Amino acid sequence: MSNPLDELYREIILDHYRAPRGKQPISKVDITSDGQNPSCGDEIAVQVTMDDGTVKDVHVDCKGCAISVASGSMLAEYTKGKSLEEVKKIVGAVKSMLKGDESEIPAELADLDALKGVRKFPVRIKCALLAWMTLIEGLKNYENGKGGHQKTVSTEDEE
Ligand code: ZN
Repeated sequence: MSNPLDELYREIILDHYRAPRGKQPISKVDITSDGQNPSCGDEIAVQVTMDDGTVKDVHVDCKGCAISVASGSMLAEYTKGKSLEEVKKIVGAVKSMLKGDESEIPAELADLDALKGVRKFPVRIKCALLAWMTLIEGLKNYENGKGGHQKTVSTEDEE
């Protein structure tokens, strides 16, 4: 039997935590969204450069625990180069997986599998969800033509 804590902090998680992807600031910000996870104290800012309906660049600035930072790093890595529709599918698949259904995680997003460990720690699921919830809110506002100031996403609002 493996220790659930070992599973939570798998090597992939620690690798993303130590060297988060998407750290570099982006020059053109089309989508911006902030989020927070009060139960853990994680805070995140997600910015996206769009190009012809495709995510051209992603900047993620996350101040929080290893899980929230690693999840944000995976978001930066996996959404870059994807269309908005593809991004929505990925976010949907991540949410389903964190809730126990892993049937929809495509093979090329294999690192996301490492986040499964949080399912044994319900309070940490929100840490893993934070980045994705924040991105989706930004996308929604972008598609509705609402840029600029918007409310900070909170994991407490998750339905
Ligand atoms: Zn956290």
